[in-house]
Amino acid sequence: MSVDVKTLTVGVPRETYPGERRVALIPAAVAALRKAHVNVLIESGAGIESGFADADYSASGVKVLASRGEIFSTADVILQVRAAGANRNIGQADFALLRSGQVLIGLCDPFAEPSLMSQLAERNVSCFALELLPRITRAQSMDVLSSQASLAGYKAVLLAANELPRLFPMMMTAAGTIAPAKVFIMGVGVAGLQAIATAKRLGAVVKAYDIRPAVKDEVLSLGAKFVELDMKAGDTATAGGYAKAMDEEFYRRQRELLSQVVAESDIVITTAAVPGKKAPMLVTADMARKMPKGSILIDLAAEQGGNCELTRPNETVVEAGVRIIGCVNISSTVPGHASQLYARNISTFLLSLVKEGQLALNLNDEVVSNTLVTHGGHVVHPKLRETLGMSAVVS
Ligand code: NAD
Repeated sequence: MSVDVKTLTVGVPRETYPGERRVALIPAAVAALRKAHVNVLIESGAGIESGFADADYSASGVKVLASRGEIFSTADVILQVRAAGANRNIGQADFALLRSGQVLIGLCDPFAEPSLMSQLAERNVSCFALELLPRITRAQSMDVLSSQASLAGYKAVLLAANELPRLFPMMMTAAGTIAPAKVFIMGVGVAGLQAIATAKRLGAVVKAYDIRPAVKDEVLSLGAKFVELDMKAGDTATAGGYAKAMDEEFYRRQRELLSQVVAESDIVITTAAVPGKKAPMLVTADMARKMPKGSILIDLAAEQGGNCELTRPNETVVEAGVRIIGCVNISSTVPGHASQLYARNISTFLLSLVKEGQLALNLNDEVVSNTLVTHGGHVVHPKLRETLGMSAVVS
């Protein structure tokens, strides 16, 4: 006897965030979805910047549509890289296309402009913000922040190597010996670890520092030196393994003790972040100016306010011969692999919500409850409700 299994339709519109080159699904990710009775529609040209032509999608069983409107009017679920708060100005144009009962999944930066989330709730859209995924083992394969941070750490080192007027490795030549570049990584999370590994592979002498002493062994295992500060660390990490926000006196002392290492580095890559807070300021303008002439500071926290006082997002500031590069959306500069990893993340997340070709949301599952921002016509995420001045629970 055959069982009547329904089919879910997901739609992938072209990304509209300025400079965004990634796409939410790549052709290779489609087979797993089809196996789970999920059909895919894609807007024509959506994958082109990542290296995937419409014909590649068609060959994987995806229906390619020329009309963006038709994607929104046909799909049950919309998959995007940057939507809503993560594409604040241009992305809002899609709100008029979203239908009541439709599901939106992507990076949505809900706290960037909470009123956008209220608008999605009013339209009765169920919005999942992937940056809110819990960092638990079960969700690792869905973890968009980790997959993209890893690429960012790698690319930051290449960018620095390209800008530096010196080489990375030590070289002994008949014309003399070249000393290796000195690289200092500040913040050793996912991006920082990848930056250490990449700088080591290129032959630099690498030092790294993090507020969480627990990362010391990881730094040493990559062959870098861990910078330890002579200060009472106290409780610097949450139970979940993230850095805590510290008081200004802590940061002041940190900067004071780090200034010597910064002044001796040809390249500083900063990645320090505290979830839900502005990035800590680790390098003052004065510290940056004291770096060797021609040196480079790459600030991967530029979008969260920056780790260097001189950082301007999306700009290169030159001060006293030092270039401070405020990186924004750097993983989009390697769109092929960034999209490959993103597509695996988002399809694993989607498949965890699908049963027999239908969405089956388990609101008691922390993967669902942490990421679901709007549902049933309401803002449902407790922290966002608090931010919007709403009562803790939906009445
Ligand atoms: P993040 O982007 O929030 O922060 C980057 C780094 O900046 C962190 O290592 C943090 O400790 C550091 N930092 C913050 N304030 C600082 C300061 N004042 N000085 C120096 N460094 C400072 O972090 P992330 O890359 O997302 O990862 C954070 C942790 O979560 C890591 O230990 C990572 O291994 C872990 N993680 C776990 C999972 C999982 O289990 N599924 C997934 C991803 C990450």
